[in-house]
Amino acid sequence: MENDPIPNLPARIGGLADLAYNLWWSWHPEARELWRALDLQAYRESGHNPVRILSLISPEALERAAGDAAFLALYDRVMEQFRRETGTPPRGFPGHPEASPGSVAYFSAEFGVHVSLPVYAGGLGILAGDTLKEASDLGLPLVGVGLIYSHGYVRQRLRDDGWQEEIREPFDTSAYPLRRAADREGNALLVPVPLFDPPIYIGVWRTMVGRIPLYLLTTDLAQNQPWDRAISHDLYTADIEQRLRQEIVLGIGGMQALRALGETPAAVHLNEGHPAFASLERLAAHTAGGMSWSEAVSTVRGTTVFTTHTPLRAGTDLFPFPLVERYLLPYCERSGIPRDGVLALGLDPADPGAGFNMTAFAMRLSHTTNAVSRRHAAVASGMWSGVRWDDTAVPIRAITNGVHLATWSEPLRVQALFDRYLGPAWRERPDDPAAWEGVEGIPDEELWRVHEERKNALIAEIDARARRRWQSGTTSAASLIAAGTLLDPHVLTVGFARRFTAYKRPTLILHDLDRLQRLLADPLRPVQLVFSGKAHPADLEGKRLIQQVYRLALDPRFAGRIAFVAEYDQHLAKYLVAGVDVWLNTPLPPLEASGTSGMKSSVNGVPVLSILDGWWPEGYTGTNGWAFGGDGIPGDRTAADADALYQLLEREVVPLYYDRGPDEIPHRFVRVMKEAIRTIAPRFSTRRMVREYCELYRAALNQGG
Ligand SMILES: *Cc1c(COP(=O)(O)O)cnc(C)c1O
Repeated sequence: MENDPIPNLPARIGGLADLAYNLWWSWHPEARELWRALDLQAYRESGHNPVRILSLISPEALERAAGDAAFLALYDRVMEQFRRETGTPPRGFPGHPEASPGSVAYFSAEFGVHVSLPVYAGGLGILAGDTLKEASDLGLPLVGVGLIYSHGYVRQRLRDDGWQEEIREPFDTSAYPLRRAADREGNALLVPVPLFDPPIYIGVWRTMVGRIPLYLLTTDLAQNQPWDRAISHDLYTADIEQRLRQEIVLGIGGMQALRALGETPAAVHLNEGHPAFASLERLAAHTAGGMSWSEAVSTVRGTTVFTTHTPLRAGTDLFPFPLVERYLLPYCERSGIPRDGVLALGLDPADPGAGFNMTAFAMRLSHTTNAVSRRHAAVASGMWSGVRWDDTAVPIRAITNGVHLATWSEPLRVQALFDRYLGPAWRERPDDPAAWEGVEGIPDEELWRVHEERKNALIAEIDARARRRWQSGTTSAASLIAAGTLLDPHVLTVGFARRFTAYKRPTLILHDLDRLQRLLADPLRPVQLVFSGKAHPADLEGKRLIQQVYRLALDPRFAGRIAFVAEYDQHLAKYLVAGVDVWLNTPLPPLEASGTSGMKSSVNGVPVLSILDGWWPEGYTGTNGWAFGGDGIPGDRTAADADALYQLLEREVVPLYYDRGPDEIPHRFVRVMKEAIRTIAPRFSTRRMVREYCELYRAALNQGG
């Protein structure tokens, strides 16, 4: 194709171009192996990005691969599986097999499919990426719609005083697995957004996630004025007007882009409130087509599914009414939408003066609103009880989040263990608890050896990162200790990695420094802590929390047993969730809607030590991890929660971990590891989650006729 940077690809391995532009390879171990086998150095230097591998690799190396029997055998196997799994049309939804391609459009402000396509910030994006992979595995007729952020992905650098600095990596579309979408004449598609005068043009890029097309939009095009280009510069910009324009581009522009591409979704899934203007566009299309306002509202409502992700009122998007009127009312009037009707849809009765509320708007225009855990559903129901459809409160049900098991269980050793002891069942029926019963039969010694290997791999990765920093000449020797160079593979390792922000309380375990020192510097049974995570660039409190951890990591009294590993992303997350011994989670209840990183660790046999919030009240069985806290502590609960956490570590986790028989294996700890895998993998898989969403899609498609 015209702009592929792969002119020298020999015909015998010509399929590599298709493979490079479909992120399918990222969750198929043999396909990952293929890129490594092609050129390991390029694989690493490219940031695991096959499009860049193919532009970095020499023509001679490609010719060599095309003549190498072992490489070709692997290539043929991978391509056969790739064609089989992506070449067939979607199967439709369970119970609704006649649904056609693109029947459901899944809108999200972020998609975290793989590190090689950085259009995500955190958990919301990873969930969206996992959802598309699962939809592909199931053969569902879904398309994804999101945005490109051309000022890029925010990289994290820590100064020697522990303050986070951001490095922005410009987003060069040609370096990523993206192809520009074309119109019917084959020209680059330009979609004008009619709200703006003169119009703003949207360019559309497409990637494939297995069978699922993911369309990513940008306004950063030569056709647009500078301020309009800037709409798609930054994810979650703090500039409220720019943020409104961004959400107009995502929702309204996204629907119009789909139409221009010939995709005609019968139903829409809104992942969080950011893309909810898609519903406004659909209202406008219906009223312009002659429907009455109330018919249009009930049609859009009947065919929309909305997922709310935050129990924090401050976490919902609010826009000043005058700004909304300025941007949206002329458009509404042209389409025959009543002004007051639109504004009423965005009113939050609990705080009507606060502005146009995207969550309330999305809820009123969806047949089902779901929260992302049972506990979150209960909290959200109270929070949004004033939001009504005519005379009933909009109900909120729970669809608890899950993780894509082929992505998050470590592919080389952990998956091999599953293949050996569970057979093909865990891949074919990942959500079936019976498929996981075989975990009991994994010999303790084997599971423990695999885990030790993952732990060594994590520590080696942390050392390699420290070495690169040292080599770059930009850092002090002392800071390498804070970066984790004194970590010891024989020591009980507690991991905490997620966004650094106040409600997640990353420093709860640092509450009582004397008690912490006794735990960490114990001569016989020491503990070490590995932290990782970014703060949002505007979140100064989050940056202070990072600095607080960093300073303690440098403090000699903790003996190098606290580490802060910079640059948390999907890649580092994969090392961490499989390589620490215990996964710590200490949010302030009830503010963690679900949380997914503990699901990722559990499926690798790394049990969770968590406060009872988010998904944990429904995940914890009493034997598959450790729980503390929960409801009923009024006022400032920090000291009580910290005390409960220390007690669990001192009395249960540490003794269990260091209780070794003559074979040096902590059999009682391994019991907890096995219970974590067996009980959590099926129930908190995206297979279970997406199947639950399919019921909602089916209802929507039936409404849509
Ligand atoms: C899983 C994941 C998250 C979300 O973790 P939570 O526990 O839900 O906060 C964030 N960032 C990355 C890179 C992840 O892989």
